[in-house]
Amino acid sequence: MRPLVLITGGSSGIGAAAAELIAENDADVVINYRTNEQAALAVKEKITSKGGTAYLVKADISTEEGVSHLFAEVDKIGTLGALINSAGVISTIHDFESTTLEQLNTVFTINVFGSFLCSREAVKRMSHRHGGNGGCIVNVSSMAASLGSPNEFVEYAASKGAIDTLTVGLAKEVARYGIRVNAVRPGLINTDMHIHTGDAQRADRLAKFIPLERAGTAEEVAELIMWLISEKSSYVCGALYDVSGGR
Ligand code: NAP
Repeated sequence: MRPLVLITGGSSGIGAAAAELIAENDADVVINYRTNEQAALAVKEKITSKGGTAYLVKADISTEEGVSHLFAEVDKIGTLGALINSAGVISTIHDFESTTLEQLNTVFTINVFGSFLCSREAVKRMSHRHGGNGGCIVNVSSMAASLGSPNEFVEYAASKGAIDTLTVGLAKEVARYGIRVNAVRPGLINTDMHIHTGDAQRADRLAKFIPLERAGTAEEVAELIMWLISEKSSYVCGALYDVSGGR
């Protein structure tokens, strides 16, 4: 049976690029999205036009109901071999002193709690402890975890700091059960996420501060994700990989 890879936030940006690349490499993919069905359908069509197999599951990963629905659908499709936690949101640019509880709730509920809940469900299915075949989890963190995003969105950066800690702690807990957990930490990547900061030109504006003098592409991040779920990275566990053009 072909391996099944679940990508949360697979309808756009890094998640979509990962879904497309993974589907080209002999795995079936489950693409999760929250609202943008058109975008999810477009990713699925791209995959199927190249002979790959993709399933779509609409679910809000920041709720127990959404996560339970998502994994019930995955269970109907096949045996989970890997989870990519890519679903995430960013805040609009703001000074720290104007941070609201609503912003904190949104960013932490989706970016942090969503990744925790999906990882928990994936571990239950993949762990040797419960008769599973083992597998991989890749968390999409951010360079923001180290840089702190001052004057823009410190809470977003802090949510990614939590993802780094989740990666290290969970990796150490489940390695013995056949599950490798790692994270990619993208820098400035050209995706629609920047539109949600209130500055659609953000990636272009900040490109000159990157040592490689450009924003990265979702495809460049997807290559690292693909490697991390492959056997080629079989001894990589609990690692945080920067993919940031030197930023
Ligand atoms: P994006 O293009 O805006 O994609 C975000 C994806 O997350 C969409 O598919 C969206 O689905 C999904 N999503 C959001 N909330 C969700 C929820 N509650 N439940 C399920 N899906 C949800 O952003 P991106 O740039 O690809 O970001 C992907 C990941 O990379 C994020 O974790 C982000 O923090 C991280 N990252 C991005 C950059 C960058 O520069 N772009 C840098 C570092 C890290 P819908 O559209 O259907 O809502």
